[in-house]
Amino acid sequence: MPDTRDRREYNKKFRETHKEYFIAYERNRPNKVERLAKAREWGKLNKEWRKHYNDAYREANLERLRAFDRARHAARHEYRLAYFRKLKAEVIREYGSLCKCCGEDTFEFMSIDHINNDGARHREEAKCGGGSTFYLWLKRNKFPKDNFQLLCFNCNYAKHRYGICPHQRVLGAEVSA
Ligand SMILES: [Zn+2]
Ligand SMILES: [Zn+2]
Repeated sequence: MPDTRDRREYNKKFRETHKEYFIAYERNRPNKVERLAKAREWGKLNKEWRKHYNDAYREANLERLRAFDRARHAARHEYRLAYFRKLKAEVIREYGSLCKCCGEDTFEFMSIDHINNDGARHREEAKCGGGSTFYLWLKRNKFPKDNFQLLCFNCNYAKHRYGICPHQRVLGAEVSA
C-alpha cells in the first residue's frame, strides 16, 4: 500500500495524463440539483420498498419472530438477575455480611440501611432508585460507610417504621433493669 503522499502524487499525474476523460466527465455530469432530487427520489422508493419488505417478512415469520423475542427477553432477564445477584453479593460483603442489629447472615434477607433514615432524600440527590441502581451507586462511590450499614429486612423495616428495632429495645431494657 503506497503511502498518502505517493497516492496523491499518482492521482495528480493521472489527472494530467487523462485530461480528456475528466473534461468529458464534467460535461456529462448531471447538475447538483438534479442529482440531489434523484437521490431523494431513490431514498423514498427505497424506504417504501424496505417497509413493504419488512412488513411482509414479519407477517410470514410471526411465530418465529415472537419466539425469538421471547428467548431474547428471557436471556436478558436472566443476565440481569445474575448481574444483580453478583452486585448485591459484592455490596453485602463490603458491608460486613451480617445484620448490624441482630447478626442475621442470610443473603436473601440482607438490605442496606440509610443510618440517618434519609433514604428518600438520598435517592433524590444521587438520582438513583432503589435496588440495583442504588447498589450500583454504592459501588461507584466505593461503598461509603458514613451513612450506610447492613441490616436484615426485619431490622431495617422495624427501624424505619417504629424508629427503633425491637432487638435494641430489649437490649436497652436489659441494661436498665
Ligand atoms: Zn436483623
Ligand atoms: Zn434488629
